[in-house]
Amino acid sequence: MLEIENIIFPESLGDALATVETDPGAVVLGGCGYLRLGSRKIATAVDLSKLGLDTITETEHSYEIGAMVSLRTLETDSCINVFASGALVRAVENIVGIQLRTCVTLGGSVAGRYPFSDPITALLAIDAQLVFQGAGRISLQDYLTGKGLRDILVKIILPKDERVAAFTSMRKSTTDYAVLNCAVARVGTDFRVVVGSRPSRAIRVEAAEKHLAANGLTRETAEQAGLLAAENLSFGDNPRGSGEYRRKICPVLVKRALIEVLDAA
Ligand SMILES: Cc1cc2nc3c(=O)[nH]c(=O)nc-3n(C[C@H](O)[C@H](O)[C@H](O)COP(=O)(O)OP(=O)(O)OC[C@H]3O[C@@H](n4cnc5c(N)ncnc54)[C@H](O)[C@@H]3O)c2cc1C
Repeated sequence: MLEIENIIFPESLGDALATVETDPGAVVLGGCGYLRLGSRKIATAVDLSKLGLDTITETEHSYEIGAMVSLRTLETDSCINVFASGALVRAVENIVGIQLRTCVTLGGSVAGRYPFSDPITALLAIDAQLVFQGAGRISLQDYLTGKGLRDILVKIILPKDERVAAFTSMRKSTTDYAVLNCAVARVGTDFRVVVGSRPSRAIRVEAAEKHLAANGLTRETAEQAGLLAAENLSFGDNPRGSGEYRRKICPVLVKRALIEVLDAA
């Protein structure tokens, strides 16, 4: 059970950050999907729901997704359905069910840095940037490899470009956590190849990206990129699958995603 001793509704992002910085018992609430799992007592819950972070804004060069935007809002947004071939929508549309996706937020999904996360894998292939109230703007990649921040995630920025992308995953049943997930993208002559739920955090596979940039995307190089991903990444065991199994399916997921990008051309 989740027990909250005191809940505050800051009137500004500055107030929210001040609470997080000065109160060691303060915990920021997203949609509480993950926070409420298990038994936990929160001394000061910081509820961001009155700060207007629940909108998606299109600017000249980007889409800006407020941290409190729910996965359901994301998957039903007409622009996000088209941007990067809808890869971000593909990454969230099978997470449990509509009721959960209506509650849980993209901000909570990113801030939590969950290794099983589907949207994080897609966002890495999209070169997402994050804006924190204290730390300012940093890349998702740096956030994932860094120590973690005690901060308020304000928004997630997707650079608006002609990116063609795809998301694939292997799950034991449609709505289960992924055994392995993968997102790829082509931006001009550059490529992104990302594999997550290994079961450790999503990571870009530079060897595969360089191979594609040097040789172009064909059915053959798609297969080679998948093999490079399996060779260059570490995989581990968890109740959903063994490291050995993950290494076996990795080339298949990477190749499938790349062929989707190839066929979209
Ligand atoms: C039963 C279940 C099944 C799931 N299955 C999947 C799945 O298959 N694939 C998948 O990708 N995800 C899955 N998820 C995770 C889900 O999609 C969300 O990523 C998760 O619930 C976190 O989002 P939230 O809004 O609920 O955040 P919360 O649980 O509220 O918060 C998560 C963490 O982020 C922090 N936080 C939240 N918002 C901010 C902010 N703005 N700034 C700073 N810190 C913040 C919180 O303090 C907390 O530490 C599942 C979740 C549940 C409950």
